[in-house]
Amino acid sequence: MGTNDVMLDADVIVVGAGMSGLYALKVFRERGFRVIVLERAAGVGGTWFWNRYPGARCDIPSLEYSFGFDPELEQEWEWSEHFAAQPEIERYLNHIADRYDLRPDIRLETGVAAMTFDEKTDTWVFDTETGEQLRSRFCVMGTGGLSAPHRPDWPGIDTFAGEIVQTSLWPEEGVALEGRRVGIVGNGSSGVQAIPELAKMAGHLTVFQRTAAFTWPSQNKPLTDKEQDEIKSRYREVRAQQYASPLATANTTGAVIFTIADPNKRILESTPEERETALAEHGFSAARIWADSAKDLDANAMAVELFREMVRRTINDPELADSLSPKDYPIGCKRPVLDNGYFETFNRDDVTLVDLRKDPIVEVVPEGVVTSTGLQELDVLIFATGFDAVSGALTRIDMRGKSGRLLCDEWVDGPRTFMGFAVADFPNMFMIIGPGSVGVLATYPPHIELQVGWIADFLDYLVANEKTHVEVESEAQEEWCAEVEAAAVGSMFTAPSCNSWYNGGNIEGKARVLPIYLGGLDRFMARARDLAANDYEGFSIH
Ligand code: NAP
Repeated sequence: MGTNDVMLDADVIVVGAGMSGLYALKVFRERGFRVIVLERAAGVGGTWFWNRYPGARCDIPSLEYSFGFDPELEQEWEWSEHFAAQPEIERYLNHIADRYDLRPDIRLETGVAAMTFDEKTDTWVFDTETGEQLRSRFCVMGTGGLSAPHRPDWPGIDTFAGEIVQTSLWPEEGVALEGRRVGIVGNGSSGVQAIPELAKMAGHLTVFQRTAAFTWPSQNKPLTDKEQDEIKSRYREVRAQQYASPLATANTTGAVIFTIADPNKRILESTPEERETALAEHGFSAARIWADSAKDLDANAMAVELFREMVRRTINDPELADSLSPKDYPIGCKRPVLDNGYFETFNRDDVTLVDLRKDPIVEVVPEGVVTSTGLQELDVLIFATGFDAVSGALTRIDMRGKSGRLLCDEWVDGPRTFMGFAVADFPNMFMIIGPGSVGVLATYPPHIELQVGWIADFLDYLVANEKTHVEVESEAQEEWCAEVEAAAVGSMFTAPSCNSWYNGGNIEGKARVLPIYLGGLDRFMARARDLAANDYEGFSIH
């Protein structure tokens, strides 16, 4: 059968019905493509479908963590808080699915088990977990950067008689926690958000901590009509700023969270009095206001000490304060964590911290978790232990490109891509916010809009030129990987003491690579537009 007369179920199959997949479906369909979206979950929303644990909330301002493609939607949708909670974002994404009539082309509860590129026909063949087989010319992966859950395999874990839950797979029907003995493992963004809420619900909460966290008060509050109207009145300007900025942000809340307050402030030149004033004015955020701490490890160490001082001032018990004080790794090597009363929660009588550095795990038994000092009896054990991030959702699919090459084998030493859009030897496959792009660093919705728009233009170009095969040249891929590596030099993400999901250091045995381009979304998109203007330089097309 020739490439043109093969039977296709769709022109494009999109994997995932989260933010990326929903928007990709809308755009590709408007461009005239027949699209099918395959989604493992029972509902749309991706991250915002799965992560429905108590306290789950976005830590990017709601008015920025939303799509800008439709000014009417922007004006009509009302956000209730500066940082929206999970139910509100899930509602927003369901509204999008309905408003643009996306549901007919989305197949829920249809996970992708395998994908194989058929070289004879230049098509992708999908085997779903439901036993169906589907074929398309192109595929676009909207599988997310933080969507492949990771859970430690502690000895005896299957013997636990209580309930085991993961924050990232939280059951829709909820979990009975009231009055029960609840344990939680992990204190990254998910754990830090969940812990204060779980403490309010549980009879007793035990927190198993491996690494103390740097976390900053979220400064969340209800969004007043006045605040919302003010931003809505200049939304085009806000969006333009997001689309053109390195991290797709417009700093609409003015909060000192992800940004450094003053680029000229240097902690290495500060006096003890200035540092004391910073603590009084900014509390925990005093550790985030010094520009030199982002690049200089000595400056960073001084900022860490300010943070530790703030922990000591917040926690009543000095030994507990010591356990909760981050040590041995720099601020900024892990993603900033935002909280609502995290440290204060540990002053409660019904909350216990188990510091796994001092008191390691021995095993899980039916009654609970045994550490070196004894048994913690539990009814519910919650894992907030993060994700096989950036590449995991892709490598967990049995994806075979040319000559049967398996993606997870190709990426055993870390993902290699051309600008996160495509992979050599995996023709006709595009990724949204893939490894090697700016990825998880930029605010997702505007970032997704830019990337989907670029992919849609590319698909239009291929169809207009009657091409059925597009593939990255390996030299272009290698050059890009070298550029990603060069852009990371000197960043805290690559500090030897840094173990984070950014660099694969959170998962035993995973390659230690930073598959994120630190050069900024503005530069990244300028480069992508240049490629397009040069007939998609770096791609071989026929
Ligand atoms: P994470 O940041 O990777 O944190 C995982 C936690 O589990 C860490 O404290 C880690 O300890 C611990 N852990 C992992 N394996 C362990 C083991 N074997 N034994 C003991 N502890 C273990 O994952 P996350 O909290 O789910 O957050 C991931 C990312 O998702 C965030 O950085 C953020 O980008 C996103 N997120 C955002 C929000 C939000 O918008 N507010 C909320 C949730 C998640 P170590 O530090 O020692 O590895």
